Amino acid sequence: METWSEMMRGRDHRISAETIVVGSGPGGALTACLLAEAGRDVLVIEEGPRSGLSETEPFSRDEMRRKYRNGGISVALGNPSVAFAEGRCVGGGSEVNSGLYHRTPPEILEQWRRTHGLRDATEADLVPHFEACERDLSVSRLPGTAPAASLRLHDGATALGWRSMEVPRWHRYDAQGPGCRQSMTETYVPRVERAGGRIVSGTRARLLRREAGRFTVRCAQDDPDGGRREVDFTASEVIVACGAIQTPTLLRRSGLAPGGGTALHFHPTVKVVARFPEPVNQAGMGVPVHQVKEFSPRIGLGCSISQPPHLALAMVDHPDALSEVMSDWSRYAVYYAMTTGGAGRIWTLPGISDPLVQFSLSKADLADLADGLRRLCECLFAGGADRLYPSVRGLGPFSSAADLARIPSGLPRAATSLMTIHAFSSCAMGSDPRRSATDSYGRLHRAPEVRIADASLLCSPPGVNPQGSVMAFARRNALAALESAS
Ligand SMILES: Cc1cc2nc3c(=O)[nH]c(=O)nc-3n(C[C@H](O)[C@H](O)[C@H](O)COP(=O)(O)OP(=O)(O)OC[C@H]3O[C@@H](n4cnc5c(N)ncnc54)[C@H](O)[C@@H]3O)c2cc1C
Repeated sequence: METWSEMMRGRDHRISAETIVVGSGPGGALTACLLAEAGRDVLVIEEGPRSGLSETEPFSRDEMRRKYRNGGISVALGNPSVAFAEGRCVGGGSEVNSGLYHRTPPEILEQWRRTHGLRDATEADLVPHFEACERDLSVSRLPGTAPAASLRLHDGATALGWRSMEVPRWHRYDAQGPGCRQSMTETYVPRVERAGGRIVSGTRARLLRREAGRFTVRCAQDDPDGGRREVDFTASEVIVACGAIQTPTLLRRSGLAPGGGTALHFHPTVKVVARFPEPVNQAGMGVPVHQVKEFSPRIGLGCSISQPPHLALAMVDHPDALSEVMSDWSRYAVYYAMTTGGAGRIWTLPGISDPLVQFSLSKADLADLADGLRRLCECLFAGGADRLYPSVRGLGPFSSAADLARIPSGLPRAATSLMTIHAFSSCAMGSDPRRSATDSYGRLHRAPEVRIADASLLCSPPGVNPQGSVMAFARRNALAALESAS
């Protein structure tokens, strides 16, 4: 079969469609699917490569190299800086993530109504969208026992009387084997194509222009010969779904949203490597599914992927203990305390394709992180851990609950390693143009013919894993647009 690049070779490089969706992550893939199934001529432009779930080992270095932007480590500059990760492949973050699913908490929806004037987004408004996404992605609970490292956190919380839950995942379990995570390439991407939509991978949108009622998306496309070339795509409608960092980058470059990108939010996260007296970890350990919600939404506690490369990364502040951890790694696992504070900005720089990302944390945000770290350590000791290494240089290891008195009231700026895998709110939705880049349905206030359909829209940190919220709003907005056009 002729590839897209072969089809285009030697042709006039202006390809047209009725609707262009830029970005094929959860927001973009779902939107493209609904529009294509409604009979629209849809073309999806995706910067990253196309490779199905089975082509890389989950959570491996190879996966990071092939499916993440910058090999999985980008940095938001600040004091402290925050390392963050973005998927960059057909399917976006859904291809590399853990699949942990939450609906948007009702109190967060209420907060968004109050702060941003977000309309038609109560829990009752969103339930049909949550339910449809849950069906489409087979959101379900583990059929068997959770990994031991996950259970240790749950045991600790239960011993302390704290609320802890097993989080469902988008995963099709089967009786014989590990089953299959229901990423975009397993769900909405094939549906787009079955409905006649086209997906063009290896193609980065650089600029959006509107002339005589039509959009041109100017792209840099990977050439089969290893080079790059310019290609223009035209459409009467454009939906931008490049994720919370890249969407405001593209809009700013295109002069479309000077305000977009001024209110980036993360879930800033501090990590702890815990040692237990007995093995809790093994090669191919399943995804940990327990989360402690006692202090939500301000602080959430959980267990991370803990394969040896992840353990090594989490031990960066304790280099002297690294070889001990690696030689006995089945007794160790990585845990996290996730918070909601801080605010960032995204800058575009002439001649450089990556944006500059800045993130600031106040004294109160560092106090929340310290509180999260303390509670996480308490929970792990209650769950049986006998040594803890926090991701703070010069702090720990801790060997008993009494050692936790050494955690300062605010984490030290110069010695704390923070990370996040959740970015949002850079082009928030809402009816108040002073606080939001788009209206309540994702149309840019200053250019309503351009829509956004990704994590940028979330008005503030949801305090839970965000993909469920991204998909529910993408579905709600796409159906509303189809209805208003009919
Ligand atoms: C390691 C990891 C684990 C995670 N675990 C969970 C989890 O368990 N549960 C959960 O709810 N969330 C999780 N998340 C977060 C979740 O993956 C994101 O919230 C979600 O993917 C956001 O969807 P999106 O559509 O906004 O953008 P993305 O998924 O970021 O997709 C955007 C797509 O647009 C493409 N793109 C960007 N710029 C351009 C351009 N200029 N031209 C063309 N294409 C472009 C990108 O390559 C990417 O494929 C995790 C994230 C990571 C990185």
